[in-house]
Amino acid sequence: MKIPFLSTIKAEKSIDPVCGMKVETKNPLGGASNHKGAIYYFCAPGCRVAFENDPTGYLSGEKFIEM
Ligand SMILES: [Zn+2]
Repeated sequence: MKIPFLSTIKAEKSIDPVCGMKVETKNPLGGASNHKGAIYYFCAPGCRVAFENDPTGYLSGEKFIEM
């Protein structure tokens, strides 16, 4: 199956919930994680691991890693 005009789609960005960095959703350096039906993207594997250990802590803003 061909997906037309794929190259014209703008790279979408998402915010890494752990450190607040912008991450390209097309190619997240730290991968992505699914939490309660929403997908989060990470700048580095360490951020993803931290998030997966305590997703609610980071989503509530209680926890935050400054990069
Ligand atoms: Zn990060």
